[in-house]
Amino acid sequence: MYDLIVVKPKLNKWKVIACICATIIIVSIATIDGIFCATRVKAAKFAEQIVMQAEALENYQEQVLIMEETKRVEEIRSKIPTWENLQQVRHIYAAKEEKRVFLTFDDGPSKSITPQILDLLKQEQIKATFFVLGKNAEKNPSIVKRAYEEGHYIANHGYSHEYGSIYESTDSLLAEYNRTEDVIRKAIENESYSSHLFRYPGGSSGGKYKEIKKEAKTILEANQIYYLDWNALTKDAEGAKTKEQQLENLAGTVGEKSSVVVLMHDSSSKTVTYETLPDIIAFFRERGYQFKNIYDLMQE
Ligand SMILES: [Zn+2]
Repeated sequence: MYDLIVVKPKLNKWKVIACICATIIIVSIATIDGIFCATRVKAAKFAEQIVMQAEALENYQEQVLIMEETKRVEEIRSKIPTWENLQQVRHIYAAKEEKRVFLTFDDGPSKSITPQILDLLKQEQIKATFFVLGKNAEKNPSIVKRAYEEGHYIANHGYSHEYGSIYESTDSLLAEYNRTEDVIRKAIENESYSSHLFRYPGGSSGGKYKEIKKEAKTILEANQIYYLDWNALTKDAEGAKTKEQQLENLAGTVGEKSSVVVLMHDSSSKTVTYETLPDIIAFFRERGYQFKNIYDLMQE
């Protein structure tokens, strides 16, 4: 008979401690990693939510801007130009406490320049005044309509821009005015629209046709038509072919005036005018001018 010998394994206590420690470390690392992993997921979700909220806010702000602009244009649209409520056109150059500037564009619309000018004015939230030429408005009615619908004032620069033809007599001047008014009405699809505002090609005085121009002023008034020249210009139709020249001419003609009407052109060759426009806008903003158009002159 043999005695049953039970061999008790010798437990090395340091090994046990080491094992326990290792287990604790592994469990801890797993737990910490789990916590960090969960935290990372939470942080990613949180960041995603922040981005979504920022996008939603941006969209909301954009919507608010569009709504404000729509409301502003609707308000403008509700104003109907009449001989009576446009009387302030006569006093447009009167000194004002608040500086103001009227950007005006003649000879358009053109396919190449006018839409770009409209884009820029929209971006800058500025309403301008367009003295359209009948023959160009006839070719580009959708551009006239766009300008009108975006709150710009559509006025009349005659039909042909040929001095010999428009200044042949007061009758021919009036006939060109009326023909262009018809073209404008058709383009903007508003049969009751009357601009009541004419700009003489080449200005209302001086030159070879000064007598007819002078005589026509009485005829225009009798037909409830105001006329408007300008008191500042970039000389974009008189050979100012660079941005620098146009800005120099502008600064020189604006001087210290508090109410400024700027003459510019949006006919097809006026690329430099469009390219200079951001600087022209900055010029007036830096000097504290408010941008206005003819609608702003209307009395309630
Ligand atoms: Zn002109």
